Amino acid sequence: METIQYNLPPNRIPLAWYNIAADLPKPMAPPLHPGTLQPLGPDDLAPLFPMSLILQEVSQEREIEIPGEVRQLYAQWRPSPLFRARRLEKALDTPAHIYYKYEGVSPAGSHKLNTALPQAYYNKKEGTKHLSTETGAGQWGSALAMACSFFGLDCKVFMVRVSYDQKPYRRALIEAFGASVTASPSNETESGRAILAQHPDSNGSLGIAISEAVEVAAKDPNTKYALGSVLSHVLLHQTVIGLEAIEQMALADDDPDVVIACAGGGSNFAGLGMPYIGRKLKGQSKARVVAVEPAACPSMTKGRFVYDFGDTGHLTPLVKMHTLGSSFVPPGIHAGGLRYHGMAPLVSHVLDLGLAEATTVQQLDAFAAGIQFARSEGIMPAPEANHAIAAAISEALQAKQEGKQKTILFNLSGHGHFDMQSYIAYQAGKLENYEYPAEEIAMALAGLPSVG
Ligand SMILES: *Cc1c(COP(=O)(O)O)cnc(C)c1O
Repeated sequence: METIQYNLPPNRIPLAWYNIAADLPKPMAPPLHPGTLQPLGPDDLAPLFPMSLILQEVSQEREIEIPGEVRQLYAQWRPSPLFRARRLEKALDTPAHIYYKYEGVSPAGSHKLNTALPQAYYNKKEGTKHLSTETGAGQWGSALAMACSFFGLDCKVFMVRVSYDQKPYRRALIEAFGASVTASPSNETESGRAILAQHPDSNGSLGIAISEAVEVAAKDPNTKYALGSVLSHVLLHQTVIGLEAIEQMALADDDPDVVIACAGGGSNFAGLGMPYIGRKLKGQSKARVVAVEPAACPSMTKGRFVYDFGDTGHLTPLVKMHTLGSSFVPPGIHAGGLRYHGMAPLVSHVLDLGLAEATTVQQLDAFAAGIQFARSEGIMPAPEANHAIAAAISEALQAKQEGKQKTILFNLSGHGHFDMQSYIAYQAGKLENYEYPAEEIAMALAGLPSVG
């Protein structure tokens, strides 16, 4: 029988997260205080985050121990499975080997729980009572709501308006876990009211929802803020994905030539990619590491690598990242988790160093790939993950054309069971590709903050 699944025993959940900052040939540009333009100190972030997470954010230690309680919670679904997509390989008639790490087995349905649990854990430990956050498609909101329910924390979620309307079941899931959900932009915050005053029908965006959630936390000493991607500590927590995958690829006695993941804020890409980039830096891997973004929101391929705000309301520090400009509101594509104007500073940095590359996929190609994948592999992917699948399929077809064996590994970041409305719209021919929104992006980039 051909092996299709490479499982690790429960005791092989990693003991530590991998912090690539320790291995980078050049340090990242520091985040800056938006008022003084001076590098941020840990105390500047203390109103928003617990100190253990702030210290992880700036840590230079290679390995950061995963608390026992968090590992115990991870054990509900980790180590997550690594599959070989043999039926997809046959359907494509490709000599390539295609593997995928499946994060949709987490009870929240995506990789997001990998960081939601430690974030709730450290907040609880440091006395936080309430957490506020944003969510795009609702994956992060549901993961954090579940983690807050485990740790007895209150949770308030600002959900991007277009997803609030497109994905009612994910909203219901967040509420079932006991969190409250507000459509963003909302009337509950100054940042939300400012947007609504100008655009009463705004679709919202992650950048706007972040402003609302940060504002709520900044105004209340008992409330902290939690972010589902972008920040280095979030990327750090996701490295369990790649650390496990490296062991599983060894079990498969195969080594990836190309490692692929979709990228919204960059955490799930970093989760699979950074451990491989770490191996590249040690000369143990030659894999190309590829981040895939939507053509409608192309921060890595069309954005500038400069200091910008992480949010639309300009409440966050300035970070150096690939950005389309913080006022850019991406088109309402159904991959809501990828509608962010920027890219994680750490991911931007490794792209800039040439340690990773980026590519784009159009919405219709992403859904076509997702359907093809589902028919071969039986798993209904999240619309975000479809971008990685589309890139993996195109690598496999290229291998076929060249008549060359190639080993492809991609991250299937989540299942799409709560995104079926998007598939209904796709099957009915109601989805469209979006042209690169050149004019709006040029306008947003013209408003970049000036940093010497
Ligand atoms: C949020 C999400 C993404 C995007 O994740 P980032 O870590 O922000 O890049 C991708 N896939 C799924 C299923 C998601 O929920």
